[in-house]
Amino acid sequence: MSTATLTGTCPECETGLTVPPVVEGETLSCPECILTLRVEAVSEGVLSLRMVEVQLRDWGQ
Ligand SMILES: [Zn+2]
Repeated sequence: MSTATLTGTCPECETGLTVPPVVEGETLSCPECILTLRVEAVSEGVLSLRMVEVQLRDWGQ
């Protein structure tokens, strides 16, 4: 039975993350260290994550 969730590891604190399906380029927050992580790639249900600098401005397009 396949799962609808994806897994990844926070590059900062190495916490294992389980998240709803996302696509490359989306961002999520680590629940442990609160860093913003960007999905670099998705491969067989495993995310490659990279921490990104949070920008307080430029939320628009
Ligand atoms: Zn973390």
